[in-house]
Amino acid sequence: MSKKKWVYRFGAGKAEGTASQRELLGGKGANLAEMTNLGIPVPPGFTITTEACRHYQESGEFAPGLEQQVDGALASLEEWMDSRYGSAEQPLLVSVRSGAPVSMPGMMDTVLNLGLNDSTVQGLGARAGDERFAFDCYRRFLQMYGDVVLGVKPNEHGENPFELLLKEHKARRGVENDVDLDAADLKALVQQFRDKLEADTGKPFTEDPKEQLWCAIRAVFDSWDTARATAYRRIHRLSNVGGTAVNVQAMVFGNLGSDCATGVAFTRDPGNGEKRFFGEYLLNAQGEDVVAGIRTPDPLTRTADTAGNSLEETMGDLYQELVGIYRKLETHYRDMQDLEFTIQKGKLYLLQTRNGKRTGQAAVRIAVDMVDEGLIDERTAVCRVDAESLVQLLAPTFSLQEKQDAIDEGRLLARGLRAGPGAATGRMVLSAEKAVDMVRNKNEKVILVRIETSPEDIAGMHISEGILTARGGLTSHAAVVARGMGKPCVVGCGDIEIDYSRKEFRVGDRVVKQGDPLSIDGTTGEVLLGALPTSPSEVVQVLVDRSLDAKESATFQSLQRLLEWADRYRTMQVRTNADQPADALAARAFGAEGIGLCRTEHMFFGGERIVAVREMILAEDEQQRRRALDKLLPMQREDFLGIFRAMEGLPVTVRLLDPPLHEFLPKDRAAIEKVAEEMKVAPERLSHKIDKLAEFNPMLGHRGCRLGISFPEIYEVQVRAIFEAACELKAQGVDVQPEVMIPLVGTVEELRWLRDRLEPVARQVMKEKGTEVPLSIGTMIEVPRAALVADGIARHADFFSFGTNDLTQMTYGYSRDDAGPFLADYLSEEKGILPADPFQSIDQEGVGALVKMGIKLGRSVRGDLKIGVCGEHGGDPYSVAFFHDVGLDYVSCSPYRVPIARLAAAQQAIASEAKKKK
Ligand code: ADP
Ligand code: MG
Ligand code: MG
Repeated sequence: MSKKKWVYRFGAGKAEGTASQRELLGGKGANLAEMTNLGIPVPPGFTITTEACRHYQESGEFAPGLEQQVDGALASLEEWMDSRYGSAEQPLLVSVRSGAPVSMPGMMDTVLNLGLNDSTVQGLGARAGDERFAFDCYRRFLQMYGDVVLGVKPNEHGENPFELLLKEHKARRGVENDVDLDAADLKALVQQFRDKLEADTGKPFTEDPKEQLWCAIRAVFDSWDTARATAYRRIHRLSNVGGTAVNVQAMVFGNLGSDCATGVAFTRDPGNGEKRFFGEYLLNAQGEDVVAGIRTPDPLTRTADTAGNSLEETMGDLYQELVGIYRKLETHYRDMQDLEFTIQKGKLYLLQTRNGKRTGQAAVRIAVDMVDEGLIDERTAVCRVDAESLVQLLAPTFSLQEKQDAIDEGRLLARGLRAGPGAATGRMVLSAEKAVDMVRNKNEKVILVRIETSPEDIAGMHISEGILTARGGLTSHAAVVARGMGKPCVVGCGDIEIDYSRKEFRVGDRVVKQGDPLSIDGTTGEVLLGALPTSPSEVVQVLVDRSLDAKESATFQSLQRLLEWADRYRTMQVRTNADQPADALAARAFGAEGIGLCRTEHMFFGGERIVAVREMILAEDEQQRRRALDKLLPMQREDFLGIFRAMEGLPVTVRLLDPPLHEFLPKDRAAIEKVAEEMKVAPERLSHKIDKLAEFNPMLGHRGCRLGISFPEIYEVQVRAIFEAACELKAQGVDVQPEVMIPLVGTVEELRWLRDRLEPVARQVMKEKGTEVPLSIGTMIEVPRAALVADGIARHADFFSFGTNDLTQMTYGYSRDDAGPFLADYLSEEKGILPADPFQSIDQEGVGALVKMGIKLGRSVRGDLKIGVCGEHGGDPYSVAFFHDVGLDYVSCSPYRVPIARLAAAQQAIASEAKKKK
């Protein structure tokens, strides 16, 4: 028989594990052990390892020896607690709690009050001298056991059937609150719950506590693979292997009277990062009550409006003890902690500690503050902030004026608690499925509104712009998950009355129907009717609009410092995709070190240009074409002057014309006639040309360098405009570094042919102007073939830039413009063909292989070849990490993602440095 250790004890002064055994004991188990070792009061128990879970997942059976080890640990527990599991005289109750190595708040299952049956409930009541309490535990147990172990499903409105029974019972009895139910009520409910369970399962409910325990352990193991847990791991990019540990722990009771309580606390404010102890509790309540939003809880800390209800006021000594513990834990873990505690008859117990989820704003502030406090170093601070979460610091808020106007118009519906900062507008939906349907199939933005959310709603929450709940506090499920996802969120908005069956909610006599536009402000807690316009965040006001002084914004200052540290560690440069001076300036303010992609399409549209462009398209011969193009030259030179000036001292990669020519011609009859008249040509001639240029597959048609080869004059004029502008600025003493980029190259000859024509144009301009500017001509690598023959291409290129949008499109053969419907299927939980949208995050395996090959072949010919990427992926942290690893010189992304890319590049540099050291 195997002697492997599957079970680790903790509590009662000593633990067999430590915090470093996260992989084996899960986060919860490892931290329960660590808290024990730190001398913090933790109810005793034991942890069944993730190895035991994997054994079960692989074989479908419990590991050999597990049962004996659990029996042994249970015996120690009975001894410590001076009671017996399953005994009617001195019953020991336990909880069975999931706990994976990675934190997945609320995703996996937990059952409280195990060990109850019709006889032990009597013993529990007698021992506590409180029958009401015993039946309160029993009905909670039946509900959780029903949900987790027996798989009782919510109804079609997503409501829990036990909650409904409870609600009906309360309505019949005319009571508001669970605490107002007496022993007789709870007994009646227990009977109803049992009837419901037996009706649903068609089996009698098991009275055997041992069987309950093993069924619960099995259910927790199985909960690793529930749809919601899998969805959570997919959304947060966590690995699907590993399984969960199971913690069996002696129950302590927060529902034994008014000297009892349960609560949740954060060592700093998870919303804005402020250094203040923060949390919520409920008197006379158990476990999940605070998180589930059963009642809206009271705050821990006294403020002007706590009116004597804060824990600090009701149980001052225990509050002080809790503050002492939080200090100890924060210093020990050197990170903001999220704690669960229970007070039983005036004694404090800690049930959990973990690194707390936080908003982007809080993450930045906490990281920077902790460096100042000497708790962590700069590298740790840089790595601690999820790069994607910086979106929240840059995302718009509602404009104060517009919001005030809306309020004056009477559109303020209600106020709730501020659970996730930021402004969101969208169509109101009342279920997670409806949210997914509206977004995926109807292309709408939505706000998800629920009485409270549960882990079942995770996919719907992810897809929504914002979340609003009627019940629950700042540590409720909705609030925690929204913060983790960076969604604007308002919770505990008690004024809205949701009616799932009528698909509407009411506030007084006002009705909001599913589909109506709604706005929520997670920074202030307001809920408003209709869609409101938004305005820029503080950071944007400081950096871009310059309407706010940097000194006025603490958020900005923290961000600035964090990004300065990031710049110290990163090795990859960050450029931006911009084609307007204003965007270029914004990107520079965000730290862009050049333009990686300046598209030139817009220089052919707009005002008089389009007339000249159309003349060029209709031209019968080269000479006519050149005459038309000559009209464009001065206008385009002006455009380049603007961009180059904005990017003074930094490289600007200009991509020559990319789209097919028919994009410049009118489409419908009326427009054709109008244009024909303007151009003084017969409408038939224009339509004829349009017909001639029509393509079945424009994405794979006459575009990019193919256009440049058919009509080299177009590219020649562009190159002339670029170098005339550059030389002019150079003469004024402005440092310009133009880089000419040729799109859609797939063969060596395309590039060689064009280079042979364009290089002389640039040299000619320099000669005419009597000035020298750097001459650099490179190519995009976006056709798979280009990556395959990159060595040949590198002989004619001064740089490569991977156009990963087109490269992804052509590698998969997915049309970017048509992929929506089938990608929705591919990404769905049921089908799961793709793990992520390849247009959002680079496909490392396939597209990434082409990138690697392109780099290797390119640099085999030119060791100093400068290589970057300019697709959407340049601003995606997961892709940025990959680009760092494969050795790109820079990524280029949209201006507002520049800070994200800077941080992500630093994190990967630090991570790979650490790996090398090992
Ligand atoms: P989650 O991971 O979803 O937070 P937990 O395992 O932490 O689930 O448990 C859910 C709730 O039950 C928490 O509030 C926790 O503090 C409480 N709880 C768990 N075990 C016990 C126990 N032995 N005694 C009292 N409360 C408990
Ligand atoms: Mg917990
Ligand atoms: Mg392209």
